[in-house]
Amino acid sequence: MLKKSNASDAAVYWANRLTRRGMRIFNHMGNNTADLADMVNSQIAAYRKENGQDKDDRKKAPIGTKQRLNALNKTGVEIDPRGSVTSPAMQGVNMPKPMEETNYAKETLGNEQMADALKNRANGLKKPKAVSSPLKTPTLLQASIVKQGAAGKPETFAEYLINHVLPSDMHVTTQLDKKQTEVLLIEVARKHPDQYDKVVSGLKRLGDTWSTYDPVTMGIEEISTPNKAKRDAIVRKYQAQLEKDLKKGDKQTMLTHLEAFQKELSRNDLDGSKDDASIMVSSALTGNKLQLMKLRTTPGVVTDNDDHIVPIIFPKSYAEGVDPIHFWLGAAESRKNIAVGQVNTAKPGEMSKIISNVLNSAIVSKRDCGTMQGLAFPPRDDTIIGRYLARDVPECNLKRNDKITADVQQELLRKKVREIIVRSPQTCEAPDGSVCQLCMGMRNSTEKDYEIGDSAGLITSGNIGEPLTQMTLSAKHSTSLATGEDNKLRKEKGLRQLVEMPRNYPNRKVLCEVIGTIVNIRPAPQGGQIITIRQTRPVPERYIVFGTPTPHMEQHWDYYVSPSLKLAEGIKRGAEVYPGMELSNGVDNLQDIARLRNLGFTRSAAAENMYQVYKNTGQTMDRRHFELLSRAAHPYVRIVRAPASAAFVPGEVVTYEDFVQEAKKLPSMDVSVANALGKVLGEGVLDLTVGTEIDAQVQRYLTEHGVKTVKTVSRLEVAPETLPLSRVVNQRKDWISALNHRYLKNQLIDAATYGKKSNIHGYNPITAYAYGAEMRQGTDGTY
Ligand SMILES: [Zn+2]
Repeated sequence: MLKKSNASDAAVYWANRLTRRGMRIFNHMGNNTADLADMVNSQIAAYRKENGQDKDDRKKAPIGTKQRLNALNKTGVEIDPRGSVTSPAMQGVNMPKPMEETNYAKETLGNEQMADALKNRANGLKKPKAVSSPLKTPTLLQASIVKQGAAGKPETFAEYLINHVLPSDMHVTTQLDKKQTEVLLIEVARKHPDQYDKVVSGLKRLGDTWSTYDPVTMGIEEISTPNKAKRDAIVRKYQAQLEKDLKKGDKQTMLTHLEAFQKELSRNDLDGSKDDASIMVSSALTGNKLQLMKLRTTPGVVTDNDDHIVPIIFPKSYAEGVDPIHFWLGAAESRKNIAVGQVNTAKPGEMSKIISNVLNSAIVSKRDCGTMQGLAFPPRDDTIIGRYLARDVPECNLKRNDKITADVQQELLRKKVREIIVRSPQTCEAPDGSVCQLCMGMRNSTEKDYEIGDSAGLITSGNIGEPLTQMTLSAKHSTSLATGEDNKLRKEKGLRQLVEMPRNYPNRKVLCEVIGTIVNIRPAPQGGQIITIRQTRPVPERYIVFGTPTPHMEQHWDYYVSPSLKLAEGIKRGAEVYPGMELSNGVDNLQDIARLRNLGFTRSAAAENMYQVYKNTGQTMDRRHFELLSRAAHPYVRIVRAPASAAFVPGEVVTYEDFVQEAKKLPSMDVSVANALGKVLGEGVLDLTVGTEIDAQVQRYLTEHGVKTVKTVSRLEVAPETLPLSRVVNQRKDWISALNHRYLKNQLIDAATYGKKSNIHGYNPITAYAYGAEMRQGTDGTY
């Protein structure tokens, strides 16, 4: 699924996808030939018109592949019509392999017409000399220069096509490889933000259209070693260096040298290369520099089964042939990569499925759920764009439910507004896991609101799930060199750890579980540190999981901080601590936050951490996707204490939605935040949910965000009930939709035991689909 969260993000995205998309469309050509021909025709017509060649043919605009190609041949200009955005005509590297292409069309696509047309075209074109030796012949560069461009330089046909898509004051004068495409799009975003979308889709369309005429392939000559003499010199230099390093026994210096070695090899590999393989890599069509380097220059060094570098230098490439010892060493890495590749694509696929199952009820169901809740952001945060305001901003004369555009953001920054509260899917109160238009905000791909009935959940799960596979795949082939460990969650593994919440894992952040004072911090015998806390006030028994009683000391607790973690700021002897306070740095565990804080903070931490996992992996995504998922991933509360009149009994686990319905019936009163200590929220505020106890930290949080009064209820206490993401669906009331998931036997037994019911006209498509007969007869977004 496609996504575009902000300008530079989209630029990178499209730069990567420009050609790939086009190649994919090639597969659909059997059905789309006519459409495609129309598109190409109009481009040719425009080109001719500009060059005064439109007199004769204007009325008989050709349609169909055959006519189009004939017309193209008659343009009188010698061009390679298959020039795609990123390759041949653009770069002047000639890749015509007409007969191959003809056969491909006939045999693979089963498209006789296409094959004929290609053959005619091939006969019509001058047969290029270059066919057998593409490395040496940039012949069509000259041939494809069609006119003097606006920048005063000769313009090729491909440049002409691209310049037509660009704003009038911008011109392409250089090869559009991955980097240049990114640079170009960023420039468009800076200079012409209003035209950005048009340019991006225009370029994409060019890629779609023209790359279908250019199925790139690799010949055997493509894998001859480029700059061989230089390669040998590099190898010799580092062989000598490695021997020295091994003698000294300094591993870190050795790794640094080997990393430099790989870099030098890769640079040499692509230096001056104009062959198909280099173009494929530099245009981001497929493959990467390292893969190509391994194939035809040399792998440099390889890793063993445990990803450790084997300190032996490969003097030759796989294409040249390696001797038995190197083959043997390289095989370990290859075998491992194959196995890892299999496993790694299976895992993200499974994760995607879990996410979509959790989110499949998140249908856009109404305009406004009416919630007064929302999230606080500073105006400089770009994630606010496309959302609706939850609270007035009098400084800028903005009202609740006004949309935040880039202009509005500028205005907020000009007026130096410190913070705004925005609507968020995380705090939406639409029924049964659905979401409202105002909380969901604008859809990035269309820049309009989601429509009633849109499945925001499946759009979100696509957006979150699709990059997961990419993340693991991009790691698969790379040569990993020691980079140093840190505490950031990354990739599919990071997301999984976050949402599945294993009880223990490396670098788990240590949170305080009691109210008290730090009385001692001492080194632990096994390494790391032990923090001793004297408890000054009681806390619920369920809080204390990781603390161990200090030997021979009443009311004292020890917290162990492992050697890989640092103490958090302000953690020293004499410091006052409270439940949920960070004692160390490290990786959040949502289960700890849920146990020691409240549901609102848990959902916020879930959204923020997921957002960061993607960011750490180099993917900036629309934060609202994670907010929608965080609400769906944490839907349950456990009743700890309830008034006798309430429908719930202590110990019961209910959905937060059901709980709110019941809590609303209880008598509530308005209390100023200053007097609210120890009371319980009867109405959600900011990201805090109904049932949140107002302790000193919550009180400070409310004051900091400008909340003056809150609605409170009494004799009510709830705790978030966190479940691993893969089990969330199983607790649903809607038992039919949960059958799309796993643990089916238990699911059925549960459903029968507790008399669960499913609504066939609810917000879940699975339930409606399972029953089938009345599907799509629901109203307002229901099935
Ligand atoms: Zn809402």
